[in-house]
Amino acid sequence: MKCERVVNAVITGTVGAGIQETERTMNCVVCKHRETRPGQVTVTLQRGDTTVILKQVPAEVCQNCGEYYLSDTVAGHVLSKAEAAVKSGAEVEILRFAA
Ligand SMILES: [Zn+2]
Repeated sequence: MKCERVVNAVITGTVGAGIQETERTMNCVVCKHRETRPGQVTVTLQRGDTTVILKQVPAEVCQNCGEYYLSDTVAGHVLSKAEAAVKSGAEVEILRFAA
């Protein structure tokens, strides 16, 4: 992936220079050892009869198992978009995430 290489360069370039503050990496809770990297995922939510598919959601993605983690801010946006789709009564709503 194109963006992955950029992220690698950024991480190796800033090792030992306050990396904790700027590059907030975390360990995947599923496979424990692997770190996550910033990326984009497709989130699917189901509420009753409504299925909401949100594309291009920014997330931390595990490079090993593909598990993803959303920040509180992003998760909030995702939920409010999902609620709007449920209220509109759509059976399937495909949206693009925009912060
Ligand atoms: Zn993992």
